[in-house]
Amino acid sequence: MQKLIAGVHRFRKKYRNEHWELFRRLAAHGQSPEALFITCCDSRVDPVVITHGQPGDLFIVKNIGNFVPPYSENPLEATGVAAAVEYAVEHLHVRDIIVCGHSDCGAMKALYVDRSHFSGTPHIGAWLKNGDRTMRVVTACYPELSREERLEITSEENVVIQVENLRTYPVVQKATREGKLHVHAWFFEIGEGQVYAYHPEKEQFEPIREET
Ligand SMILES: [Zn+2]
Repeated sequence: MQKLIAGVHRFRKKYRNEHWELFRRLAAHGQSPEALFITCCDSRVDPVVITHGQPGDLFIVKNIGNFVPPYSENPLEATGVAAAVEYAVEHLHVRDIIVCGHSDCGAMKALYVDRSHFSGTPHIGAWLKNGDRTMRVVTACYPELSREERLEITSEENVVIQVENLRTYPVVQKATREGKLHVHAWFFEIGEGQVYAYHPEKEQFEPIREET
């Protein structure tokens, strides 16, 4: 905790003073983020760092496994993800939504563990059900691979499937139909510090290159 408190002091002395105008503008005009960024809780994945951004740029949702539960007609089944998607699209009018998975994801590994293992942490077990479709797809599409090899591609497949789930939301369907919203699947390779984007036409992830 001492490290965090010392960090707050350093933030006030350095970053805040260097970005005084930014904070005043954000306070005066409210937020107007470019994108909704959905990624994993993993402490090694920081959306603002990997996009080299600053406060106000991204509306961020983090959850274990960067899951996007499919749209539900029943408001009693509301999730934090669903509420954030609706708010970001309908009220903040974000132009892009990014779902970003990452390498060495504990949630993806947990999909391969028997659910009975989570009897003492039932909310983890229940939340991992959001990865069931990912597991079904990986098992069906890569029957020749060993369990270990399948684990490596599970994170990537999961991102693509969560983007498909995102497209079940009426607000997303409407905004994309009107050309006001674009949805992206990204993948962050921690060891390389590399960010990949999924190309649906090639059905593969490629490093994000600077647009020319
Ligand atoms: Zn993760």
